[in-house]
Amino acid sequence: MLIDTFGRVATDLRVSLTDRCNLRCTYCMPEEGLQWLAKPDLLTDDEIVRLIRIAVTQLGITEVRFTGGEPLLRPGLVGIVERCAALEPRPQMSLTTNGIGLKRTAQALKAAGLDRVNVSLDTLRPDVFKTLTRRDRHRDVLEGMAAAREAGLTPVKVNSVLMPGLNDDEAPDLLAWAVENDYELRFIEQMPLDAQHGWKRDGMITAGDILQSLRTRFTLTEEGQEERGSAPAERWIVDGGPHTVGVIASVTRPFCAACDRTRLTADGQVRTCLFATEETDLRAALRSDGEDGEDGSDETIARIWKQAMWGKKAGSGLDDPSFLQPSRPMSAIGG
Ligand code: SAM
Ligand code: SF4
Repeated sequence: MLIDTFGRVATDLRVSLTDRCNLRCTYCMPEEGLQWLAKPDLLTDDEIVRLIRIAVTQLGITEVRFTGGEPLLRPGLVGIVERCAALEPRPQMSLTTNGIGLKRTAQALKAAGLDRVNVSLDTLRPDVFKTLTRRDRHRDVLEGMAAAREAGLTPVKVNSVLMPGLNDDEAPDLLAWAVENDYELRFIEQMPLDAQHGWKRDGMITAGDILQSLRTRFTLTEEGQEERGSAPAERWIVDGGPHTVGVIASVTRPFCAACDRTRLTADGQVRTCLFATEETDLRAALRSDGEDGEDGSDETIARIWKQAMWGKKAGSGLDDPSFLQPSRPMSAIGG
């Protein structure tokens, strides 16, 4: 098992498949100038599948989420999903995507064994979408979501980040739209993971703000803590049900004590937390020829991963005055 000194057990693995993206969301990437990871540093499809196999068969991982950057940009994605679906025990598999290209790939991903998708969409207004993401692709995202629903990649969850002065008035509209289209909406508080290091706590839209705004139009009833489990979204039943809305309040109501995650970057580094400033290199072990004493065996890799988990910190440190934003932006960590 992947266990840390606080007794938390990681069963949920986030795998970043690329640091590249076809959008440039302001809270994640700069408009230009971000250095991409070098091709030889990226894990190959075989290496990714091997690490997932080790995680599933030796380390107790039961859930795998593919992310990025934009994971649909990875050419081998369908093959990776297919090979992971054949693992014993078979992990639950989902994908976090901006939805562009999903129209084309949703059916193939479902056939390969993907269980569901999370699609990110922050606004219903094409002009605001263009400002937020610096690209004019709103329609592609909506079409991608509909294709995912039709392909049975359900429930389709929608991730929305609200930004002051841009889309912070849209929470009720987004919820009405999600209910109508049978999508499960979750708002994510903006976190200090932008490439520009421009995040300010004072200006951010908090979970409290979001709930207050939603309550102007909907009756929200809090779901019990039991239903929440270790899921980071606190959920509310909308107008008596059956639809729900979630809020992931990583900044104002952190859930670190119940965290069950471990993360793998596209260049083969294990991160124990989104906000970790240290990483553990699995790629070196994977590619080791034995000369440095690491034999590159499954057992060695599992041992290094367990050691990394053992060093997991109690919390994100966001509230600590000495908090340091990680040097990698969200797009290169894997959100
Ligand atoms: N490109 C895919 C997408 O946008 O869904 C997957 C990667 S993206 C980094 C994963 C999620 O992180 C998205 O839902 C995005 O909105 C969210 N995200 C990115 N930067 C964030 C930030 N600074 N604070 C909160 N959420 C952020
Ligand atoms: Fe790309 Fe996702 Fe980051 Fe937006 S949030 S820039 S879609 S990786």
